[in-house]
Amino acid sequence: MTEESSVYYEPTPIPDKNNPFESMMKRFDVAADILKLEPGVYKYLKTPTKQVIISIPIQMDDGRMEIFEGYRVIHNDVLGPSKGGIRYAPDVSLDEVKALAAWMTWKCAVMNIPFGGAKGAVRCDVTKLTRVELEKITRRYTSNLLDVFGPDRDIPAPDMNTDEQVMAWIMDTYSMHMKRTETAVVTGKPLIIGGSLGRREATGRGCMITTLAAMEKLGIKPTDTTVVVQGFGNVGSVTAELLAERGCKIVGISDVSTSCVNTNGINVEEALKWVSKHRLLKSFPGADHIRPETFLELPCDVLVPAAREGQITAKNALKIKAKIICEGANGPTVANADPILQQKGIMVIPDILANAGGVTVSYFEWVQDRIGYFWTLDRVNRRLERMMRQSFETVYSTAQHYKVSLRIAAYIIAIDKVAKTLKVRGIYG
Ligand code: NAD
Repeated sequence: MTEESSVYYEPTPIPDKNNPFESMMKRFDVAADILKLEPGVYKYLKTPTKQVIISIPIQMDDGRMEIFEGYRVIHNDVLGPSKGGIRYAPDVSLDEVKALAAWMTWKCAVMNIPFGGAKGAVRCDVTKLTRVELEKITRRYTSNLLDVFGPDRDIPAPDMNTDEQVMAWIMDTYSMHMKRTETAVVTGKPLIIGGSLGRREATGRGCMITTLAAMEKLGIKPTDTTVVVQGFGNVGSVTAELLAERGCKIVGISDVSTSCVNTNGINVEEALKWVSKHRLLKSFPGADHIRPETFLELPCDVLVPAAREGQITAKNALKIKAKIICEGANGPTVANADPILQQKGIMVIPDILANAGGVTVSYFEWVQDRIGYFWTLDRVNRRLERMMRQSFETVYSTAQHYKVSLRIAAYIIAIDKVAKTLKVRGIYG
């Protein structure tokens, strides 16, 4: 192996970032306290059911062998088979996957979906991999986890840097081993192999629905609002597009390459065209480009962090001007920023509610695969809207009842539901 090539594929070191699992646990603790959760149940709910670390040896296109590290964490399966996306990122860690898996448990519980929570990841940089290498990683990751995955056991879905094609490879690999086509083993698949209409846009659509519900509570009209969206991938771009369709003015969009601002409104369609041609927003001509540090602090009514975790901190929370924050990403706000946002009177639609549209339509996809009958886009979107609205109302009224933030209310509902289910099922052994 040449020195250059070994440097090229070395995973980037994990930055000294906020620990997402601890961040999740801080909120869990507040809700558990309010619910007066029994110590045994507390311990049970905080401990992941299963944590798997695998190595993925791959022959690269140039003939060298590389080893990638993969993870699958099942946080809890009391409510049903576990469900959660797979993330490909160079700096992903087991702690991050554990937090993401727990969030899936709470998300499914808040949405009343009969699934537990899981998450998976591979430490790799997709920008440095060819399509063939990506396919090999995906298939080897799947075959190493055949005992974990299954339509009645654990069902993966897309997350950062994984898409419909990756899901198709997972479904195919699993099916080859089972010697039958098993579409329901994974969701977020291409339509042609049992995907659901509306799945690709579901998370962004859910963000739009909950943002409009929050605006109604605050008496704000969509046509009077300005919106800033961080992250212009699946979640961010669809949220921006749908909010613009409802009359909101999108004044800021950003991705990993740049932060775009236009106080007269950004043409989201043009930005989407630019990204489909150039992959990134860099040099997008329809806006000014600013430094990323101040992007979340731009004047706006609605802020949608839809990129990564740990973006809103105690430091920048003080300077955020939005009235509503819709957490498109998982864990975009660190725990010690919560009280600051609450004191400022900002309505935060928490991740486990705001971005639950994705898992909701994943559930619809799984149901359709299992009954072998596929719904129209209109039916998918109507059912999604109904479930998102219902959950928003439940979280809102719980927050009023306990006099807590929407986030703590969502945790209260979720933990209470999983704890009650656990009580009824009992502990085996
Ligand atoms: P994606 O890979 O499609 O898009 C991520 C976007 O964020 C890209 O535009 C990327 O350039 C940008 N980005 C990355 N780092 C950034 C930074 N530091 N500053 C600004 N932009 C940055 O991923 P996605 O599927 O849209 O997921 C985004 C977030 O939403 C993740 O937290 C994910 O866990 C969460 N989420 C996704 C889904 C889904 O269905 N895709 C569902 C629920 C939650």
